[in-house]
Amino acid sequence: MGSKYFDYAATSPMDPRVTEAMLPYYTQEFGNPNSLYTLGRDAARALEAAREKFAAGIGAVQPSEIVFTSGGSEADNAAFFSTLRKVAPDGGHLITSAYEHDAVLETAEWLGKHGYDLTLVKPRKDGHVYPEDVKAALREDTKLVSIMHSNNEIGSINDIKSIAALAHEAGALMHTDAVQSLGKIPFDVVDLDVDMASFSAHKVHGPKGVGALYLKRGTRFDALIKGGGQETKRRSGTQNVAGAVGFATALELALEVRESEAVRLAALRDRVIDGVTSRLENVQATVDTGERLPNIASLLVKGVEGESMLLQLDNLGFSVSTGSACSSGSLEASHVLLAIGVPQVIAHGSLRISLGIDNTEADIDEFIDALVPIVEKLRAMSPVYKKMFCGENPITF
Ligand SMILES: *Cc1c(COP(=O)(O)O)cnc(C)c1O
Repeated sequence: MGSKYFDYAATSPMDPRVTEAMLPYYTQEFGNPNSLYTLGRDAARALEAAREKFAAGIGAVQPSEIVFTSGGSEADNAAFFSTLRKVAPDGGHLITSAYEHDAVLETAEWLGKHGYDLTLVKPRKDGHVYPEDVKAALREDTKLVSIMHSNNEIGSINDIKSIAALAHEAGALMHTDAVQSLGKIPFDVVDLDVDMASFSAHKVHGPKGVGALYLKRGTRFDALIKGGGQETKRRSGTQNVAGAVGFATALELALEVRESEAVRLAALRDRVIDGVTSRLENVQATVDTGERLPNIASLLVKGVEGESMLLQLDNLGFSVSTGSACSSGSLEASHVLLAIGVPQVIAHGSLRISLGIDNTEADIDEFIDALVPIVEKLRAMSPVYKKMFCGENPITF
């Protein structure tokens, strides 16, 4: 145990038990699940067993409500394109939030330029999308509401149950991106009463390139990928049997330790936040009220570039992220932080520490010991730190 990897929200290593469960379906059990002979039927049985296990893990009523996909991104895309092509082929109004994952945001924005009206609800300063703000955005012609269950960058958890009720009252479908919630916090599709939910395997120690869309029975859907009609005509292409088996196994294993890990990780999360904020001035937790994921600590380190911290930490063997994984490498401030109102100059100094199974208290302490001098040195070299954050009118969030 013990790891300097603090980026579990970006991806996680496969659990060896997941790899082991998958291997036979690459080798001796290699049959095509759509073939009628024994080898094919065996593969189909494994696929359906995975579907059942996965469905049970998210509280779905029927295994057929699960469509396996190539990842969370495909599930998010399908939630928009596949339903809208059936329920609103000629346009209509869509609602999502301004701090969604790009797989939702870019999809919604594309539709907003191609025949649909789009409203981006702003999350508030505390990091949450408020049901009353969604309510105010709803219209008679709203067809789909998509709000993430928890945010991948700042960890805030939204009240999707209330938002789904409002969407349904207005006659709209409800989708939620639940990629970061799966296996981390309670998540039950029936309790939330959503029509669709997206999931990704590699965030829960499963394989990359595997995801799932929960599609409530009866939800009208036009397959994004057409062809042989697999996944009961909702996703063509020979199924990734090993991937589905891996995802279901990963979810089962995550749920076994979910409660104890949530307690342990929340304590580590608070240890990072308390440790860094007590040893450095002008550092704050991005969000610190309301429901939050146990494993994500988002910090705003004023007066330094996130990228500079990231690279210097990497030199010492630590993996963390600044903004979302996709936006690092570019100098644009995170759209998530800007959406909750973090000033651009502060947003540039964000660090996301996302914790997982291998992290220990000792790792956290080592990390803090490494970060403190890095920040002090960068600030000493900064032409703007003192002027912007230590003078008479410091920039604040
Ligand atoms: C990782 C992630 C996705 C994308 O999942 P992939 O399987 O990598 O395509 C979507 N939404 C959120 C919130 C994520 O964190």
